[in-house]
Amino acid sequence: MSLVAAEGIDVRHGRLRVLHGVSLRIEPGEIVTVVGPNGSGKSTLLRALIGAVPLSAGRVRRAPGLRIGYVPQRLHIDPTLPLTARRFLDLPARVPEAEAQAALDRAGAAGLGGRQMQSLSGGQFQRVLLARATLGRPDLLMLDEPTQGLDQPGASAFYRRIEGIRDRLGCAVLMVSHDLHVVMSASDRVICLNGHVCCEGTPAVVSAAPAYRELFGTGTAGAP
Ligand code: ADP
Ligand code: MG
Repeated sequence: MSLVAAEGIDVRHGRLRVLHGVSLRIEPGEIVTVVGPNGSGKSTLLRALIGAVPLSAGRVRRAPGLRIGYVPQRLHIDPTLPLTARRFLDLPARVPEAEAQAALDRAGAAGLGGRQMQSLSGGQFQRVLLARATLGRPDLLMLDEPTQGLDQPGASAFYRRIEGIRDRLGCAVLMVSHDLHVVMSASDRVICLNGHVCCEGTPAVVSAAPAYRELFGTGTAGAP
């Protein structure tokens, strides 16, 4: 059974139709990347899949008892609030020390527990967010532009890490990315979104698809 299945979903923000007729499935253990221009509804799609935005048509089915680890695109932390990475893992609920350390370890953030969140570099911050998302052993990790602000080598390394976590935890991964070139090599499947699903398939199939080329040009590094 699929972990999540969207069937012909529409989402509106006021008069604006953000998603229309979107259908997709996420299967256990696969890494799926959603790509698309700014404003194409990628973040809205993730939020619809977790049930955080109302649908105006269609439906989303989630496997019974499905555990989702979600990292939103933007996470604001009050800069005046002292908060170590370790303490951040305790929000909203305290986690046992061994679990916290294991999560930091597998996210490549082993030495960062005592650091203030505000003092972390972009890459370190993302690794701590990733660590928190893996607490509670999710069946599905959802990451909304986790490599935003990282350079290409940094983004590549981050995707390798996500693959490693998928292999270790056996979870599926659904992420949104603009790093089309790096994403291609790190995904089992790519979904190209522009309000609707323009094309989807293996990275090779999508990068050759006319709809994809129309949106992104022929070069795969042409992130908008
Ligand atoms: P993406 O993640 O692909 O950049 P979003 O899903 O964030 O796209 O947004 C898709 C469209 O929906 C955009 O035009 C955006 O302005 C609009 N939108 C998103 N969230 C809201 C909201 N809460 N209220 C009104 N409009 C929104
Ligand atoms: Mg977005």
